[in-house]
Amino acid sequence: MTEKLGKIKNSLQDARSSRLIFLSHCLLNQNACVRGLARPPSVIRELVDLLLAHDITFYQMPCPEGAYLGSMRWGQVKKMYGTLMFCRHCRQIAEQICDQVQTYRDNGHEVIGFVMRDSSPTCGLKYAAVTADNDQVWGWY
Ligand code: SF4
Repeated sequence: MTEKLGKIKNSLQDARSSRLIFLSHCLLNQNACVRGLARPPSVIRELVDLLLAHDITFYQMPCPEGAYLGSMRWGQVKKMYGTLMFCRHCRQIAEQICDQVQTYRDNGHEVIGFVMRDSSPTCGLKYAAVTADNDQVWGWY
């Protein structure tokens, strides 16, 4: 029985590095950005090159804003996105991502971490535009 299990395990080995990182969607797709905010034309090349150099694969998380308002949405600030509906939408995405992380971990992969897009009212971990009046505040969450 042990020998049989060993054969099955060997047959599942392939070239994968088994290391992956979770990325905010727009880091790999600048088309998802609000109009006027995309900087490079396609991806954040420095990040992609760095990860490839270390054989780390990317898991591109869904764009919460794009999935909610589409690609022609206006730029908004954190308070404008602070609705129950949008929070519920984001929570559903977050739960799916947590499930993906767990299943990769359960099956021998190493999840290196997450790279989020700071300054976004939705994906920014450390700072984002909070209000949009004359005293616009860039705040810490
Ligand atoms: S919501 Fe997140 S993934 Fe979508 S464009 Fe903004 S920072 Fe990028």
